[in-house]
This record gives sequence, C-alpha cells and structure tokens, in this order.
Amino acid sequence: MPTLSPTDIATLGPGQLADALAALKQPSFRRGQLVAWLYGRLATSFEAMSDLPAGLRAGLAERFSLVHPELAEAQRSADGTRKYLWRLPDGVLIESVGIPSGDRLTVCYSTQAGCAMGCTFCATGRGGFVRDLLPGEMVWQVALVAEDFKMRASNAVAMGQGEPFNNYDATLAALRLMNDKKGPGIGARHLTISTCGVIPGIERLAREPEQFTLAVSLHSAVQATRDRIMPGVRRWPLKDLQETLIDYTQRTGRRPTLEFALIGGQNDTPAEVTALLAFARGWMCHVNLIPVNPVEGASAGRPADARVAEVAAILSAAGVETSVRVERGTDIEAACGQLTQRHRPSAG
Ligand code: SAH
Ligand code: SF4
Repeated sequence: MPTLSPTDIATLGPGQLADALAALKQPSFRRGQLVAWLYGRLATSFEAMSDLPAGLRAGLAERFSLVHPELAEAQRSADGTRKYLWRLPDGVLIESVGIPSGDRLTVCYSTQAGCAMGCTFCATGRGGFVRDLLPGEMVWQVALVAEDFKMRASNAVAMGQGEPFNNYDATLAALRLMNDKKGPGIGARHLTISTCGVIPGIERLAREPEQFTLAVSLHSAVQATRDRIMPGVRRWPLKDLQETLIDYTQRTGRRPTLEFALIGGQNDTPAEVTALLAFARGWMCHVNLIPVNPVEGASAGRPADARVAEVAAILSAAGVETSVRVERGTDIEAACGQLTQRHRPSAG
C-alpha cells in the first residue's frame, strides 16, 4: 500500500486548516485566505500566496507539502462530457468526469481509488480497493475540472470511484471545503453523496447540519438479488435500509434519490418491479432508473428502452416520483460505473 506524507496539505479539512494556522499564531481570517488560494485560485505553492505574510508562507512550506493531482490523460466525448485521469503524488491514478449542461457544470469525483464493495455491474468494484482519498484530493478534482472547462462548478457528485461512506470523515471535510465560498463555493444542496447503502454513514449524514443531498444505490429491492449483485452491503439488509432512509427524511425533510440501474433479466423482472414499488412507496423518495452501462467482463446487459419506460410508468402510476437518467459520456467510458482502476501503476 502506498504511503502518504502526513504533512500533505490535502489531508486537512476546514477545521484542521484553522488549527494549523492557530498553531502558527495566525488570526482566524487567514483560514479563508488559505482556502481561497488552495481550492479557489489553485495555487501550486505556498510561495505564490501573495497576500499571506512571508513568514507564514515559509512556515506553511516547512510543515506541509502542496502537490496538485497531475493530469495523466483527458478524453472528450462527442456530447461535451470530459473524463480525466489524475496521478496523485504517490503514483495512484484516479478518474473524474465533467458534465456540462447549458450554464451548469456537474463534476463527478472519486472518493477512493478503487472500491472494496465489489458490485458485480460496476467496473470500479471489479478492480478492487487501492486507498482512501484525502479531502483536498477530492476538492482538487472538482476545482481542476472546473478550471479546464473555464466554468464554475455548479454541482459536484460523489459518484466516481469509491464508496464515500467508507471514507466518511475525509468526504465530509471535502464537502465542506467545496461548499466554502472562498473555495469552489458550491451550494450544499448541489453537493450529492451517493452510497451503496452503508447505513451508519446515512445515519451520520442525517445528523450533519448542512443540507447535502443523498443518493442511495438500491439496484434491487429483493434481498437475494441485492446480496448477489452488491455483496459488499449484505450486512445491511433492505428492511433496515428502508427504516434508516425514512428516519433520514423525517430528520432532514429532504428527499433522497434511489438509484436503480436496470440490468436486463436480473432486476427488471415483474417480481423485482413489485419489490421496488413496495420499497419506495409511501415515503419521500425519488427513483432514478439508469439503463445499466456496459462494463467489461460483467454479465450486465441493458434492458430494451421500452422496458425501462414501462418500469418508469408502473412506478409513476403508483405515485412514486420517478425519472430515467440520460447517460452522458458512454463513448469514452465516462458514464456511471465505467470508471476503472485499470491504469493502476502496478498493473503497467
Ligand atoms: N459507491 C457509490 C458511489 C459511486 S458509484 C455508490 O455505489 O453509490 C455511482 C453510481 O453508479 C451508483 O449509483 C452506482 O451503483 C452506479 N453504477 C455502477 N455501475 C454502473 C453501471 N455499470 N451502470 C450504471 N450505473 C452504475
Ligand atoms: Fe463501489 Fe459504488 Fe461501484 Fe459498488 S457501485 S463497487 S459501491 S463504486
């Protein structure tokens, strides 16, 4: 496992940046200046932070390293979506995606290099887990993609590689930095966390003060099917997941999205749709149907468009708020579940 310098500035969340400045006997307003340089203006050295006193710049440079993810490869889809492969300071490679739509830009960033959850339909899951990302490594993905588009990022979604709730503290620290007006300044409701159903993470998020948005990858409301296609969440049964989500809506007043990637013949059968209806009915949620994206080596085929429309119609008719996701960037394998760990340096 690669090791990281404990003094990488990307390790620090907003509170820790404040602590580091306090230890250097700085007034509290310096935190905003530092966040602006790190995640707003994307300074590549402490020396460049021209409105900080010279002594402070030197003090920071002694204690911390500041190394941006390096762009290893960029690909552009015919629909305007761009996919980025970044090399982190320890050589680990991760991917992010920029999705423009009118004057909006959504950045899909990774929270881990690889993922330990092993979902069978997901390219990331098939590649295994490499390491957790640091808060700054997540914020930099968003800020660097926005810089490449020469646009402000309006939305950021933790839907790249990794399970955000397996890296809870770093992800929350990153969300707070993304939300910071001195940094990317993305509104909390426009910051979405997607989890495969890690219940303790949902419970914690329900108690956070910010209005972050929650998406849950359901993919089957039949326990046996879910156990098979999402082996990493077997320990959190569907019944408990539904209870936790209902509690989340009651605590927060917010509507979570249930992501449902339709896989032909596996979770699009009448019995599966009936179970999904029973799971989603009667409480405040939104079902987002995603025709599954093809992944090398996975036996996950797309159902016919007509079947997707039919499932959507059944749910809507039963009063469940439902949408069908329009996938972007499939031609460059930038769509959901297509981000891989295949560029891992050890794999050549
Ligand atoms: N680990 C988190 C977030 C990253 S995955 C999670 O699972 O929620 C982002 C989304 O892409 C999730 O909803 C995931 O289930 C979905 N996904 C994975 N593989 C997919 C595929 N092949 N086609 C469509 N969606 C996929
Ligand atoms: Fe991990 Fe999410 Fe992929 Fe499952 S779908 S393997 S949780 S990244």
